[in-house]
Amino acid sequence: MNDSDWDTLPFGHFKPSESWGNTQLIDFHLIWLLDCTRDYLRTPFYIVSGTQGVHKSDLHSRGLAIDICLEAHNKSILDIFFKICRFPFSGIGLMPFALHPKCKRALGIHFDIKPMGNSPLGMMQRHWLWIPKRNTTGEDIALSMVNCRKHNII
Ligand SMILES: [Zn+2]
Repeated sequence: MNDSDWDTLPFGHFKPSESWGNTQLIDFHLIWLLDCTRDYLRTPFYIVSGTQGVHKSDLHSRGLAIDICLEAHNKSILDIFFKICRFPFSGIGLMPFALHPKCKRALGIHFDIKPMGNSPLGMMQRHWLWIPKRNTTGEDIALSMVNCRKHNII
């Protein structure tokens, strides 16, 4: 993102002073998509990490991934996920046990635009749940009905 790119975002929900890490490294298309998604969901996105993110660290350090939190109190995480799926991110990770000081019940979401051109399956999107684990930071597990029930998402 160049300094002038911020003025060209379609809805202007974000500003460079948020917790993006190095804004110069972040791909314009990622924040453009995030701005559209934030507008469609009609709820604030709190930027948790960009290039400084440790989750999926390679994508973060290359400016291709952003982690946010939003308020999920009295909302269906599954419905939020379905709404997000309208937008062409290549990776979406749900972090249902995230904590954020502005959220009664935070939902953390990892968004990325990992290039998929070399994938034998073409433009397949990746979706997963990130679950914290004792003695490690956590692990990615399949976004499945069984796992959603196990972790009280549905
Ligand atoms: Zn992430």
